[in-house]
Amino acid sequence: MKQSLDIQVRQLSHSYAATHALQNINLHIQPGEFVSLVGVSGCGKSTLMRLIAGLQTPTQGNIWLDGQPSEAARAAKQIGWMAQQAALLPWRTVLENVQLAQKINPQKRAVPQANELLNMVGLADFAAAYPLTLSGGMQQRAALARTLATGTAVWLMDEPFAALDELTRELLAGELLTLWQQFQPTVLWITHNLHEAIRLSDRVVVLTPRPGTIAGEIAVPLPRPRDDTSMAFQELLRQARALLRRERVHGD
Ligand code: ADP
Repeated sequence: MKQSLDIQVRQLSHSYAATHALQNINLHIQPGEFVSLVGVSGCGKSTLMRLIAGLQTPTQGNIWLDGQPSEAARAAKQIGWMAQQAALLPWRTVLENVQLAQKINPQKRAVPQANELLNMVGLADFAAAYPLTLSGGMQQRAALARTLATGTAVWLMDEPFAALDELTRELLAGELLTLWQQFQPTVLWITHNLHEAIRLSDRVVVLTPRPGTIAGEIAVPLPRPRDDTSMAFQELLRQARALLRRERVHGD
């Protein structure tokens, strides 16, 4: 059973009434690749993610996940989603939230038991807790366990750790990377944080201000874990900043 699948976005444009959100996006994400999407607020990052998730239909263009339309991939529950809000069921314990997700595991992929997943995300001692009694970071850990439990081959992650303090965010991002290496899903990660994008991704895709088009891409060929003090890391960060800044100036 394939653990990850490819995402093809072809000549995609999207408008909301008078708002032209995205313009001619072409993007190919390889199976198991970790790609970050960066760009200023309102440039269409979340829109692109919702379109890939099959939650909205593009005004123009196509999206395929492993050769099938994104709506079909969504219906087949092949897509995992994480956002800033963990969106756990508050009246279920952490363990029950994870077990429920496991029941919808569409491909019947072999995923570890719910208790083992909680162990992996550092929540072994909180299985019986209710989500609202946990900190934001712990709730996101539980959400991560829930995503793992569904066994999905694609993780769409819209700034899942953005509301957390910086230390927790860095810690969780590091742990996420370990889980990505272990489960090997295809990941699309939205962030405002270039440093985080370079630390985590195989490739950073920079969008222009609205309507969002692809301003450029930066491949990150550095081995993980990455040393953010190295010359190579700093150089990639500089390139990404220059690309984003250029687009910001042009967009003003
Ligand atoms: P980002 O995630 O980069 O901040 P979004 O995809 O949320 O950008 O939004 C892109 C543009 O589309 C913005 O101008 C936003 O106001 C607009 N937009 C997003 N969602 C909707 C919606 N459901 N209806 C109307 N306009 C929307």
